[in-house]
Amino acid sequence: MKTSAILLSLLAITALLLSACGGTKSPAAGGKLPVLATTSIVADVVRQVGGDYVQVTTLLPLGTDPHTFQPRPQDAAAIADAALVFANGAGLEEFLQPLLESAGATDKLVEVSQGIDLLPFEGEEGEGEHHHEGGDPHTWMDPNNVMVWTDNIAAALSAADPAHADAYRAHAAAYREQLRALDEWIRAQVAPIPVEQRLFVSDHATWGYFAEEYGFRQVGTITGSFSSAASPSAQELAALEEKIRAWGVKVILVGVEVNPNLAQQVAQDTGARIVRVYHGSLTPADGPAATYLDFMRYNVTAIVDALK
Ligand SMILES: [Zn+2]
Repeated sequence: MKTSAILLSLLAITALLLSACGGTKSPAAGGKLPVLATTSIVADVVRQVGGDYVQVTTLLPLGTDPHTFQPRPQDAAAIADAALVFANGAGLEEFLQPLLESAGATDKLVEVSQGIDLLPFEGEEGEGEHHHEGGDPHTWMDPNNVMVWTDNIAAALSAADPAHADAYRAHAAAYREQLRALDEWIRAQVAPIPVEQRLFVSDHATWGYFAEEYGFRQVGTITGSFSSAASPSAQELAALEEKIRAWGVKVILVGVEVNPNLAQQVAQDTGARIVRVYHGSLTPADGPAATYLDFMRYNVTAIVDALK
């Protein structure tokens, strides 16, 4: 895309200017290790592990869809100020690699999903032209994967700030316990739903890890892709509606950041019900999904209530 190329040149110039101006390491951090996180979900987990020793800045504004985020000039400055850049990885942040390269900061990248076995795309016949290459980037939809994040974050923070390595390991262990409790809570919530009712369609292929871990089936998706940005053809939508009828799917999960128009059309045609869920962002502090733990509790409750 030409506009992206122009934007990246501007970002590169901004980054050069910033480093030419002395490149001071975040004076606002007050002795804390200044780090950047792409999504608010990654930022929350980095805060849990970093505690008081880390100053976490979040790149994507709350409510942003990470699949369609376009970097802004100030993002190069945020990268220049950070000692580490924590990203989900697994192909989620398509904007990030060029941004890091233009800022000369590829060595700052820590992909928290490193080491997780990524799920392939399922539920469609053959290889559609708009399927993502690689695996499912939505690793956070299973708290067991976020335990892996926690270990990756503790290792990266310890390497960057060895003086506080013991604290990072202790915070990570404490947060892992909370994730383990969340996992048990999810199992208890879904247990009463008969297996044959554990079916849904999603706006895009968001729920693969959740489905695999907790015995659900993501029967199909509106976009036919791991990304919310893909556009299905009329034929693909018709095939999806056919599937919804054949499987008796009652629920279409639609992320709050995502345009619901196509899902509404499919719901109208099939009688399935739209359930809004959180997808790639937390809410502000006074919202129902202000932390990752609350995000999962909200979503699981919404799914379980819809399928009961
Ligand atoms: Zn997504």
